[in-house]
Amino acid sequence: MKRICLVFFICLVQLSFAQQPPKPSAVEIFETIKKLNFFGNVMYVAAHPDDENTRLIAYFSKHYHAHTTYISLTRGDGGQNLLGADLNEKLGIIRTQELLAARKIDGGHQLFTRAIDFGYSKNPDEALSTWNKNEVLADLVFAIRKNKPDIIVNRFDHRTPGTTHGHHTASAILAMQAFDLSANKNAFPEQLKLVEPWQPQAIYFNDSWFFYINREAFQNANHEQHLAINMGEFYPDIGLHNNEIAALSRSMHKSQGFGNTGTRGDQIEYLELLKGELPSAENLFENIETSWKRLQDKQYKKIQQHLLQVEANFDYQNPHQSIPALVEAYTLLQQAKNSFWKDRKIKELKELIVACSGLFLEARTTETYTNPGKKVQVFVEVTNQSNTEIKLKSVRVLGSKSNEINNINLLPNQKNEWETQIEIPLNQVSSNPFWLNQQPGKALYKVDEIWKRNLPEISNTLPIAFQLEINGQSFNITRNLVYKYNDPVDGEVYENFLILPPVSLSFQKNIMVFSGEEAKEVQLNLTNYGSTEALQINFNPTSAWKVEPEQLKVKFNNLNETQKVKLKVTPPKDASELNLMPKATNLNGIVYNSKVEVLDYTHIPKQSFIQPSQLQLIKLDVQTKGEKVAYIQGAGDDVAEAILELGYQVEVFSVEDISSEKLQSFDAVVVGIRAFNIYDAFAFKKQTLFNYVKNGGNLIVQYNTSRGLKTEISPLPLQLSRNRVTDEYAEVQFLAPNHPILNFPNKITPTDFENWVQERGLYFSDQWSDKFIAILGMQDPNEPILKGSLLTTTYGDGHFTYTGLSFFRQLPAGVKGAYRLLANLLSLGNEK
Ligand SMILES: [Zn+2]
Repeated sequence: MKRICLVFFICLVQLSFAQQPPKPSAVEIFETIKKLNFFGNVMYVAAHPDDENTRLIAYFSKHYHAHTTYISLTRGDGGQNLLGADLNEKLGIIRTQELLAARKIDGGHQLFTRAIDFGYSKNPDEALSTWNKNEVLADLVFAIRKNKPDIIVNRFDHRTPGTTHGHHTASAILAMQAFDLSANKNAFPEQLKLVEPWQPQAIYFNDSWFFYINREAFQNANHEQHLAINMGEFYPDIGLHNNEIAALSRSMHKSQGFGNTGTRGDQIEYLELLKGELPSAENLFENIETSWKRLQDKQYKKIQQHLLQVEANFDYQNPHQSIPALVEAYTLLQQAKNSFWKDRKIKELKELIVACSGLFLEARTTETYTNPGKKVQVFVEVTNQSNTEIKLKSVRVLGSKSNEINNINLLPNQKNEWETQIEIPLNQVSSNPFWLNQQPGKALYKVDEIWKRNLPEISNTLPIAFQLEINGQSFNITRNLVYKYNDPVDGEVYENFLILPPVSLSFQKNIMVFSGEEAKEVQLNLTNYGSTEALQINFNPTSAWKVEPEQLKVKFNNLNETQKVKLKVTPPKDASELNLMPKATNLNGIVYNSKVEVLDYTHIPKQSFIQPSQLQLIKLDVQTKGEKVAYIQGAGDDVAEAILELGYQVEVFSVEDISSEKLQSFDAVVVGIRAFNIYDAFAFKKQTLFNYVKNGGNLIVQYNTSRGLKTEISPLPLQLSRNRVTDEYAEVQFLAPNHPILNFPNKITPTDFENWVQERGLYFSDQWSDKFIAILGMQDPNEPILKGSLLTTTYGDGHFTYTGLSFFRQLPAGVKGAYRLLANLLSLGNEK
């Protein structure tokens, strides 16, 4: 038994590297048989990757053998990435794969909606209006109708807005509404061409003490509708405790650094019934039919009889002995009337029969990628690793039948291999996450087909269909074409086989901002993914903007070669914007205009992200005073670069480098975000900074979090708070309309607060010395006005300013008003 446990564990780990043909152990096969004989569905609802309670998912999946789904409203695109620089859409791609890897471990399934993780929101109203509530609700209703959960579990409480991230509460509010609407034919009727109405039986809130002030407050709360369930179960067949499986699963959230160590012993989880009937804690499915009776077909008893026998008589040493009964059940099931359960159980049975026969099915390439229209060699291996009678009738690679493979008897333990050449169709879509195929909306991905909207990814985009005959019954099994190679260190490595455009045009930056009329250089990286002929690159600038050279020719010598081209961009005299979209044209007139990025992390399958190549050019209407700016590094931001774009000379310092001699030559000193939270050295360097101000300098401190400050951030009393304005459209009042910050050298108007992204700012001050002048007032909906976002004072002969305005977000996004306001801050003291 021990040996089996070990094998299972290794499988768990390997599965997370994905793409290889499934090789289930006898224990895993037996687990699948138990799932086959259980008809119960659970759906867990929350907002982000990492919100899910993996203990609960593992428990429903391993204890009940229920079909357990986690639906995360978003793909977590708005978070931080501990593993690299990939953010936003790319982080959403990574986290999607991390969730899939987590589900492989805890036995769950993964779904999403089209909602984008657009950043922090204080309350559910903001989240729902930003997303367009009806669209996200529709996606959730569709997921429920399609997957028919009996039980829905909310991670968050729908009754406590404002106590957690607005996305969280919104997920619970939407689940409560979807619970009622899914059975209503008049709700989202366009879905009913694809799915039927469905009424779940019960909806719960997965309550926990951490939603309360402390454990005591939780114990004292009203628990009449609560079920306390001990999920601390040890599964001897796999040698793991439920909490250990949950920890392994949680540890797949690697981009968030959520490595987790498993525990053992009792683990009480609380479910508060919100709607439906309260069952006993011992059997959450007690009011739900979970046997084969649910098939609602007169044949169900016979099928059930076969499959319960398979479960009772399963032989760990000889799983193939289950095949005759499984095939018998499969044949009967095929004759049953069409239904949701028939479809699902047919799929499960098919894979189970293949697993019991130890059938190895693989189609691989020896190239990591190719282009539409190209030929590739495909190596097919089919090996029957049991005594079962199996015939391979045919193999279809991307829809075309291979001539060499025709009615072959697969003798026990004999490797069958074929090599065949296929042509990738010219219209084959490139390997791109489906939700990124269209330019996303502001907070919602655009996916036209309703059936795709919940999916984590589209599987089998390069299908290899094996037509088999097992024990006289026909089966079609589909696998995806994969790339496999041998690595001298890692051994056998499977990867996604990618379809890429033959050339990638990638600018080194996304946005270029100009304040003056001088030309600037930008690098364009041209990477060869299969182009064999000369390409002509055109930029098509407008008459106002000049790009040199206007066009160029490129011919690659090798695959994966990158040619770096420097372009000179000259802005027009007046404020202007241009989205520069280069095009590469080959000799046949075919045009390529994509930027290809390959996300290669060791913990998830290799992913490619393909989007239109573009460079946003912005000529600002901005004046600046002063010449030299010192930037003191904080937690990391791109503000120094933006100051450079404004035309200043910028020198970047670490806090240790600060000295009076160094600072005195600068017109302004700017402190990077959260610097006072991170660097202890400010405790003895702050006085140098404050003296610089006293002697006529201009110091600007960007946001720091209110907790964990190493020392005072200001020469005069100023207290930070958690106050923030998350509504990036919030109206901005000019509290000191005549102050130079709003007038010199740039006249600031409400237009300058248009097109801000994600938020206005964070960690505003809530208390300050009366020597400070509050420049701006702003507020989130239904909240009091905040005046601590931008505070300035004179100190000695100089100026000190604290600002929680999120310049670090606005400047890299090319928000023009943020540049103009920053220019004024940097120009303080130069009015005369
Ligand atoms: Zn969350």
